[in-house]
Amino acid sequence: MYRSPEVKPDPRRALPAVDRLADAVAAKCPNLPAWAVLEAVRRALAEARERLAEPAPESTEGNPLPEDLVDRSAELAAALCGGQPSRVVNATGIPLHTNLGRAPLAPGAVQAIERTAASYSDLELDLETGRRGDRLAGVCSKLALLTEAPAALAVNNNAAAVLLALDTLARDREVVVSRGELVEIGGSFRIPDIIERAGVDLVEVGTTNRTHPSDYERAIRERTGLLLKIHRSNFELSGFVAETSLGQLAEIGRAAGIPVVEDLGSGTLVDLSAHGFPVEVYAPARLKLGADVVCFSGDKLLGGPQAGLILGSREIVDAMLCNPLARALRLDKLSLAALDWTLECYLEGRAERELPVLRQLLEPLERLELRARALAASLDKLWGDTARIHAEPDRAFVGGGSMPGFELDSWVVVLRASASAEKISKRLRAAPIPVVARLRDDALIFDVRTLLEGDEDAVEQAVGLALEEISRVE
Ligand SMILES: *Cc1c(COP(=O)(O)O)cnc(C)c1O
Repeated sequence: MYRSPEVKPDPRRALPAVDRLADAVAAKCPNLPAWAVLEAVRRALAEARERLAEPAPESTEGNPLPEDLVDRSAELAAALCGGQPSRVVNATGIPLHTNLGRAPLAPGAVQAIERTAASYSDLELDLETGRRGDRLAGVCSKLALLTEAPAALAVNNNAAAVLLALDTLARDREVVVSRGELVEIGGSFRIPDIIERAGVDLVEVGTTNRTHPSDYERAIRERTGLLLKIHRSNFELSGFVAETSLGQLAEIGRAAGIPVVEDLGSGTLVDLSAHGFPVEVYAPARLKLGADVVCFSGDKLLGGPQAGLILGSREIVDAMLCNPLARALRLDKLSLAALDWTLECYLEGRAERELPVLRQLLEPLERLELRARALAASLDKLWGDTARIHAEPDRAFVGGGSMPGFELDSWVVVLRASASAEKISKRLRAAPIPVVARLRDDALIFDVRTLLEGDEDAVEQAVGLALEEISRVE
């Protein structure tokens, strides 16, 4: 049947006015602050208008009821004033979960941040002479001591460290990189893009699976500024593969008089190989293999705050410090305070006891089993009628671009209920303290390795709320 446009008014005109909808939301949810309600109402109306603009002329479906709009606005308002980032429970078993903020800090590092944040400090004042001081002196000397590096430097993050190295050593020149190492780290951070932005020409050598020393040697010419090795942080190459080792690359660089830089991604300051971890993540050893510069993150395996750590020769580190980009990429004072405390922890031999990431990585399997069994028992006691719950051994990755292919043996709590695991996990993420778990074969997997103090209670609460809601709906 033909309908003229006059007969069917634009449904968008039936939407309530902002003020009226805001009043309705405020009446229904009096605890929501006015600024959030107003913004949420605008967003909800914009969503509705967009939906109504899509052609669905013969039906009124999609025309939101005022009550839907009130609920949607309240939901958006609650999300707006929830605070971000706010605490969540990491039950994935992945200690360096990039989406969950990577390494949690030790209490001592948090206190160092508090002290620095709430008062004035000698950040750039030499208390002895009363003259201007060097904000990085403390962490640089500690890093050098810990790694036996001739010199060290800390910047905002590891991406910044790589950028600074490229800009300082190879601007308007060429950098040689293996095709097997041109990685995307995540969050669309791609090494070739950084290289381009640094004003450096990328010379790719080798193939995806095999790169030989002769490939590098052939690529070296007048314009070569730097040989770059990049740790394949988040994937593994296996099968018919060949890689030029850091030691081999360093030899080639030395012979040609060209600096060799390694982007290690995630580096440790203690050798964890005795505990079965891959040896190549131990940062001090990389310099000893002949690299001129090694860069890695502060908030991955190191277990500190976000930072980019650079180890290298005095000459190169000084050149980086003189680069105007160093100011733009510098570490803020709060991260600096946390990093300084964390490095001191290593110097005093307390790192394995005090840094949450190292404690998680080194926690004995028997302890994980006890914790998983205890959590399973208390969940089962509370919710055994609605869900099937048990503890079992499992494995998890380290995460955060660290040790791909290397899995940690762990213990987990497995939970199955009548609702799908997907649905339950959505409810868990909506709890007052959201819980992020793994999903497998339509079961929820809570890995106890990454539960911090007090997290077990939060898991019990979130599971309780989720199961209650599901049984109410059924
Ligand atoms: C993680 C990672 C980066 C980026 O480090 P950020 O500290 O996140 O900036 C760069 N390179 C490699 C190889 C990485 O693993």
